[in-house]
Amino acid sequence: MTPTLTDTDRTTLTELVGVDGRIRLLTARLDALPETATVERLEQQADEVRRHALSTRRITHDMTGTVHRLQADAARLRARRRDDLAGLRADTDRERRRDLQHDLQVAERRLAEIEADIDREERTLATFGRIGEEDTPHGEVDEALHRAREEAATVSGEIRGQLAGLQERSSALRDALSPELRTVYEENEAEHGMGAAELAGSTCRCCCIELDHSAARRIANTPLSRQVTCPECGVLLLRTGE
Ligand SMILES: [Zn+2]
Repeated sequence: MTPTLTDTDRTTLTELVGVDGRIRLLTARLDALPETATVERLEQQADEVRRHALSTRRITHDMTGTVHRLQADAARLRARRRDDLAGLRADTDRERRRDLQHDLQVAERRLAEIEADIDREERTLATFGRIGEEDTPHGEVDEALHRAREEAATVSGEIRGQLAGLQERSSALRDALSPELRTVYEENEAEHGMGAAELAGSTCRCCCIELDHSAARRIANTPLSRQVTCPECGVLLLRTGE
């Protein structure tokens, strides 16, 4: 025996299918808002700017460390040179003087190398610092992101408002259904993503398959007071009675 469908149930079901269809549509729109996509794009951009700034800071820090180390080396070599020169002024022993001369040459050569290194590092550091300054400033991206978030919030807020109203109506309509029909509706919803589907002509709005003649005729010959399901996908069908 096919379950029945009273006139009241059919009227409620018709409105409920419409309301729930609108809820699905708005939910899908909410998920695919271009405003949200803009926010995501800008968030990514802001992230990149932050990451880049961080890496610039880290490299600058490393290079600064290198310069400091080289400067310490240079200071040590200058002290060594000073000591060698003092030794040469004081010492008369030929062999020791030769050693000191040699050490002085080594120290001077090494100092010249290190001074060149320092010069090169400092030039690089200066250039690098300028490159860092030319990057997209944080503020610009953050400001665009803030604006985009506001726009997205406005648009999605409107949709959420509509959805809240529709959900309230959907819930009231479900309460108005007979408990048995409500169970059927919600089981269909879980399985098919919609509680019931309109039969548009002879096409099921759930699976979008056009029923063959015999199935269409069988359904047409079934009284409206009986529940029918789509022979293709099994969803509860909503017939307009035309
Ligand atoms: Zn179907």
